[in-house]
Amino acid sequence: MAEQGNLTFGIIKPDAVRAGNTGRIIQHITDAGFRTRAMKLIHMTLEEAEGFYAVHRERPFFPELTRFMSSAPCVVMALEKDNAVKAWRDLMGATDPAKADDGTLRKEFGASMGENAVHGSDSEENAAIEISYFFSRLELV
Ligand code: ATP
Ligand code: MG
Repeated sequence: MAEQGNLTFGIIKPDAVRAGNTGRIIQHITDAGFRTRAMKLIHMTLEEAEGFYAVHRERPFFPELTRFMSSAPCVVMALEKDNAVKAWRDLMGATDPAKADDGTLRKEFGASMGENAVHGSDSEENAAIEISYFFSRLELV
């Protein structure tokens, strides 16, 4: 059996899907050595986006964020690699694309703080919660 790393959860956000960057972003993910354990295109309702971002409910940008995330389809993914949470956040780059390092996804594909192309879990605990929000056990291959 292939060696297993651990899992993180990622989203290719509506701005990146709408701009036609889904394929390019998946290529970067593959090139960086992640194994895709689950992936699907979904269009969240506002309520589903609010549930996903419940930890940010009190933040001023919560209404803008949830409206944006439910505005169009996005791609949700369970990604496997050694130290997957950190490896995926490193590939994503800083939240603000203007501050993201060269070679990161947010630098290449992000437009603003809000429309920053990708999401990634911030801990293994949240990765498990976020994967189970979108995928059943049977959908993890
Ligand atoms: P993500 O959780 O999407 O991977 P992150 O962990 O880098 O991003 P968080 O602080 O968790 O950043 O914020 C979640 C998301 O909320 C950000 O990705 C961004 O799209 C949005 N966001 C954060 N801060 C702002 C802000 N000041 N104005 C608008 N949107 C923001
Ligand atoms: Mg976050």
